[in-house]
Amino acid sequence: MDSGDLDMLSAIERWVEKEVRPVAKHFDHADEYPFELVEQMKELGLFGLTIAPEYGGLGLSASTYARIVTTVARAWMAPVGIFNSHLIMAACLERHGTPEQKARFLPRFATGEIRGGLGLTEPSAGTDLQAIRLVARPTEDGYVLNGSKTWITNGIHGTCFAVLAKTDPQAEPRHRGMSMFICEKGDGFSHGKKLKKLGYKSIDSAELVFDNFRIGADRLIGVEPGHGFHHAVGGLALGRINVAARGLGLAEAALRDAVAYARERHTFGKPIGQHQAIQLKLADMATRVEAARLLIEQAAVKYDTGERCDLEAGMAKLFASEAGVENSLEALRIFGGYGYSVDYDVERYYRDAPLMCIGEGTNEMQRIIIARQLLERTSS
Ligand SMILES: Cc1cc2nc3c(=O)[nH]c(=O)nc-3n(C[C@H](O)[C@H](O)[C@H](O)COP(=O)(O)OP(=O)(O)OC[C@H]3O[C@@H](n4cnc5c(N)ncnc54)[C@H](O)[C@@H]3O)c2cc1C
Repeated sequence: MDSGDLDMLSAIERWVEKEVRPVAKHFDHADEYPFELVEQMKELGLFGLTIAPEYGGLGLSASTYARIVTTVARAWMAPVGIFNSHLIMAACLERHGTPEQKARFLPRFATGEIRGGLGLTEPSAGTDLQAIRLVARPTEDGYVLNGSKTWITNGIHGTCFAVLAKTDPQAEPRHRGMSMFICEKGDGFSHGKKLKKLGYKSIDSAELVFDNFRIGADRLIGVEPGHGFHHAVGGLALGRINVAARGLGLAEAALRDAVAYARERHTFGKPIGQHQAIQLKLADMATRVEAARLLIEQAAVKYDTGERCDLEAGMAKLFASEAGVENSLEALRIFGGYGYSVDYDVERYYRDAPLMCIGEGTNEMQRIIIARQLLERTSS
C-alpha cells in the first residue's frame, strides 16, 4: 500500500470508531436506513473507492479496497452493503461501458450523487442466472423492459442499477441472449416492497419492478447485445474478494469481543479464558481469522496484477465467509446466555454472517468453481 492508501485506511478507521460503531446497534435493531452515515460516506469518497481517478474516483487496488471493507464490516455490515453493491454496478460500467456511458455516469457514481446497485436475481432465478425472465424487447430506438428483480441491495434508496435482461429469450446457448442495461428509476421502473430479513438490517433489500420501461439504445452496456451474462459474472471476482473481506470483518469482530469477554467473565473463581475449553475455541477463531486474511490478500494481489483469479477469489470467499459464520457462533457460545442477548453485538454478527455464504455465488457454487479450476489448471 502506498502512503495515500494508508491515509485513506486510517481516515476510514477513525470514521468507523467515531461514527459507525456507536450507532450500529440502534439502527440495526430499528432496521432504519442510516441517511446521515450515507452523507458522511459521500464526503469520505467511499462511493468512488474503486472508480478510476479520471472519473473522479480513488482508483484503489483490490488489496486496499478489501482492507477498507474489512475495517467497516468489523463495526457494522450495513454501510458496506450500501457502497459495495454500488461499486459493483460502477465496475460493470467502467469495464464494459462505452466512453459516453462512462463519462455520463461514473463521475456522478464516484461522488455518490447517483447511487444504486446490481440487479441480477429474480424470484425464479438466482444461482441459475441464465434462467432469468426479465425481457428487454428491442424497439426502433431502444428497448422496452418487462419483469422483476428481487433481493436487490439498495433497491429502495438507490436510483440506478445495472440490470441483467433477456434480449433474445429463445437464444441457444441461453447466455447469448442476455444483455446488461444501465437503468435509472422513472416511468415504468420502480421498486417494490422492502424485504424483511434475519440480519443485514437497515439495508434496503427490495424488489425492482419493470412495467413497460422504455430506454434508449444508449443504455445497453457495451455496444452490442448478447454479452450481458459475461458482464455479470465477469465482475464476480472482485465481488467475491469483497464478500470475503466482509466475512473476515465479522470473524475478527467476533474474535475481538470473545477475547475481551473471556478476560472479564469469571466462573469457578477464574476468568473463563483460563478454562481450556474456551481457549480451544479462541485458538481456532484466531487461526481462521489469519487464514482468511492471507487467502484474501492472495486473491486481491492476483486480481491487481490482472491475472485470472476465480480460483483464489473463490477460496477466499468460501473460507472467509464460513469463518464469519463459525466465529460468530463460537463467540455466542463463549458469551453464554449473554450471547443471546440483544445488549451485546455478537447476536448481530450471528445474524449477519450467513448472508456472506449466499451472496456473490453461494458457497456450494464456490466449491464447484474451485474444483473446476483445479481440474482445468492441472490438465495437460
Ligand atoms: C440480503 C440479500 C441481498 C442480496 N443482494 C442482491 C443484489 O444486490 N443483487 C442481486 O442480483 N442479488 C442479490 N441477492 C440474491 C443472491 O445473490 C441470491 O440469493 C443467490 O445468488 C442465490 O440464489 P437463490 O436465492 O435463488 O438460490 P437458488 O439458486 O435457488 O439456490 C438454492 C440452493 O441450491 C444450491 N444450488 C443451486 N444450484 C446448484 C448447483 N448447480 N450445484 C449445487 N448447488 C446448487 C444453492 O447453493 C443453494 O444452496 C441478495 C440476497 C440476499 C439474501
